[in-house]
Amino acid sequence: MRFVVDLKVCQDHGQCAYAARAFSLTEDGRLAFRQQNANVYESADVSDAERDDVEEAADACPVQAIEIRD
Ligand code: SF4
Repeated sequence: MRFVVDLKVCQDHGQCAYAARAFSLTEDGRLAFRQQNANVYESADVSDAERDDVEEAADACPVQAIEIRD
């Protein structure tokens, strides 16, 4: 599976970073994927071991910016 983050919707709340290691915040509190300067971030393949955590991150996001793609 992969996941996609809509960076136009994301408000840098950071709950995803607490749920899954695949997500992190920068020192100034913004989602690290923003550094790629795009409106959408698409991940590489997520391992089965990380899948539950990424699904938890998607559930935790208050603005539903994270979409799981199988
Ligand atoms: S939880 Fe949602 S809004 Fe918050 S940083 Fe993660 S993707 Fe963005």
